[in-house]
Amino acid sequence: MHKGYQRSEALFAEAKQLIPGGVNSPVRAFKAVGANPVFIDRAEGPYLYDVDGNRYIDYVLSWGPMIAGHANEEVSAALKEAIDRGTSYGAPTELETRLAQLLLDAFPAMDMVRMVNSGTEATMSALRLARGYTGRNKIVKFEGCYHGHADSLLIKAGSGALTLGVPTSPGVPSNIANNTITAPYNDLETMKKIFEEAGDDIAALIIEGVPGNMGCIPPKEGYLQGLRDLTRQYGALLIMDEVMSGFRVAYGGAQVLYDIEPDITCLGKIIGGGLPVGAYGGKKEIMEMIAPAGPIYQAGTLSGNPLAMTAGIAMLEILKRPGTYETLAEKTRYVAEGIAAAAKDAGVPLYSTRVGSMFSGFITTETVEDFASACTSDTEAFGAYFRAMLEEGVYLACSQFEAGFMSLAHSQEDLDFTIAAAQKAFRKVAE
Ligand code: PLP
Repeated sequence: MHKGYQRSEALFAEAKQLIPGGVNSPVRAFKAVGANPVFIDRAEGPYLYDVDGNRYIDYVLSWGPMIAGHANEEVSAALKEAIDRGTSYGAPTELETRLAQLLLDAFPAMDMVRMVNSGTEATMSALRLARGYTGRNKIVKFEGCYHGHADSLLIKAGSGALTLGVPTSPGVPSNIANNTITAPYNDLETMKKIFEEAGDDIAALIIEGVPGNMGCIPPKEGYLQGLRDLTRQYGALLIMDEVMSGFRVAYGGAQVLYDIEPDITCLGKIIGGGLPVGAYGGKKEIMEMIAPAGPIYQAGTLSGNPLAMTAGIAMLEILKRPGTYETLAEKTRYVAEGIAAAAKDAGVPLYSTRVGSMFSGFITTETVEDFASACTSDTEAFGAYFRAMLEEGVYLACSQFEAGFMSLAHSQEDLDFTIAAAQKAFRKVAE
């Protein structure tokens, strides 16, 4: 029995007086699902425990990083040992080289890597690097892909495929937006036209390894290779943003899964084991343009922080073990198929997608393959489904346009509990 949200409601009211919207990152406010956020007290394994004493099976996992489950023993033990050695030095450590080596071993396309503190920093720095390296200004991004909140990337489509981008937020100058071209995902023909028109001015095309920020939408067969060929043809760099898909869809990322060789890769989330981390890496020739090896400036007081490096190393050592990704994919298949069957039984149309341990269920009768088709989803119905699942003790991503994540800690019992909850929740939605 759910114990209600009394204490969460009170804490949210208090937080709203002190913190804009009561949260430190907008999605957490549950606005898209017509609810107020649950305040978390602690987490363990696949579970979140809220301040009212409710337990939830967690498919958000801190928006991806907690792939080994919350408070994983090995990661926690490594952190406890590290914390007594000091929390930041602002000077190099061996830990940075160890994590760099693990990343380079996992990504054949990467010769060198630079650590930063968030995914936003990784993509922002990757764009500067691409612009500095090519001497060009324009970048191409996809409608529905999110790469953090740097000015160049908070851009949506104008009217018409080749028109200039429009900021999605006040405060982004139009002269910055003018350098971002947006394109529909999974549509190679439109991309060819964009490159025919502006290819010689394009520094880079940036794409999520597997998009998760319009819900999980797999790339069509051959699409990524098509983008790789096109960018090469025009001398533009291909940046794969694997902040979400990195070590989530495979050991390495989507580029390993689909055998694509980007010029620059962005990472975050999992490689910090739950601590703030980002990274960007690529070919030596490009990476050596970064200061102090080269002229392109990028820096960070806490970059390569020993706690984050320790957690990242411990996390990758866990994920490296044989069978990890098969186990994750099998659990994801089981729960995604169970949820899809529950929707079908209740007469709710659901378009189910998954890649590795990422999954989504779009409440629509359409085939979802890009942002426009994702937007045919019934977001009101999704809100009702989300709220019903929460009451049943299942914590889903609080938007139709976010992916769900599986962890190694979810048990068969947790998965069956989730499917049973979905059966009840979809019946409510259909009422
Ligand atoms: N890139 C992708 C693909 C993401 O999913 C995110 C965050 O969700 C980011 C970049 C930004 O990362 P951060 O929130 O760490 O700044």
